[in-house]
Amino acid sequence: MRKILSVLLATALLLTGCGSSYCDHILMDPNYSHTLITKVDATCTSDGYSLYECSCGKLHKTSVFATGHMWEDITDGKLQMCTTCGVTRMK
Ligand SMILES: [Zn+2]
Ligand SMILES: [Zn+2]
Repeated sequence: MRKILSVLLATALLLTGCGSSYCDHILMDPNYSHTLITKVDATCTSDGYSLYECSCGKLHKTSVFATGHMWEDITDGKLQMCTTCGVTRMK
């Protein structure tokens, strides 16, 4: 039980740690291997990111910025729809 708790604690510390807990090795660095842990896709309005575990012991994070809506006219141009997420808006 104690062991599980300390593992959970270490994981929480890793995930909530400040920026310095991330390594800055590039993913292609042949001296280190990065294992993908979490991937959050960017949407029209929110940023996404990929979280890797580096063989150096730190985490590596790459960010993907929100793409923004891709508006396209529908119904005679009175309404616009985002071709990516399907959200509509009045023009
Ligand atoms: Zn690293
Ligand atoms: Zn959209």
